[in-house]
Amino acid sequence: MAETEQAPELARRGVMLILSSPSGAGKSTLTRNLIEADPEVELSISVTTRAKRASEIDGRHYHFISRKRFDEMRAGRDLLEWAEVHGNCYGTPRQPVEDALAAGRDVLFDIDWQGAAQVREAVDENVVSVFVLPPSAAELRARLDRRAEDAPDVIARRLRNAAVEIGHWAEYDYVVINDDLDRCFNEIRSILEAERLRRSRRLAVGAFAESLAEELGATLL
Ligand code: 5GP
Repeated sequence: MAETEQAPELARRGVMLILSSPSGAGKSTLTRNLIEADPEVELSISVTTRAKRASEIDGRHYHFISRKRFDEMRAGRDLLEWAEVHGNCYGTPRQPVEDALAAGRDVLFDIDWQGAAQVREAVDENVVSVFVLPPSAAELRARLDRRAEDAPDVIARRLRNAAVEIGHWAEYDYVVINDDLDRCFNEIRSILEAERLRRSRRLAVGAFAESLAEELGATLL
């Protein structure tokens, strides 16, 4: 009888990990840290019609595009989801996501509640969504002020929108509070690890378990 081969490198379907939060809850830092810490995770880079901030790089933080180009992409079904947020349009290009998933990689989405709802609707089983809450309203306001990259009226609008965004927390699979960046980061990593291990995401484990059971069964005969 052939001996059981070593456990195969277990193939799995890529996780589509959505992070949503109000602006200023620290989501961008968490996103960046996650990408740096985990080479299997790829960031979905959105297109937006918003003006580029001084600290941002086109093609890295967003693809900054015109409203006309955005409308063309929407009409051409090139966007997996899209939404208007704070008066600007944002959308997720479909092709890079499909390519990454086909290559067995996970994809991280930094999108709002409207986008999260559309992705859940379009794709069901490999979507995992996490809502990041700020520790307090005062801290959220302070973080937006500290960032100082946006005009006061833009900050006021983002605070109003924060209330709406937070109102959707219950639609998410997980909710974490970013009162300590390291702890919050570790919680999100744990969520990702656990989701990767879910049976439904492992394509080869079933075959391996079957072959183990068969071989063990045969030794009893
Ligand atoms: P910001 O202008 O501060 O970069 O982003 C504003 C909000 O838009 C954030 O909550 C962010 O998650 C959301 N956002 C960024 N890209 C996308 C996207 O492609 N789709 C959707 N629905 N929201 C996005």
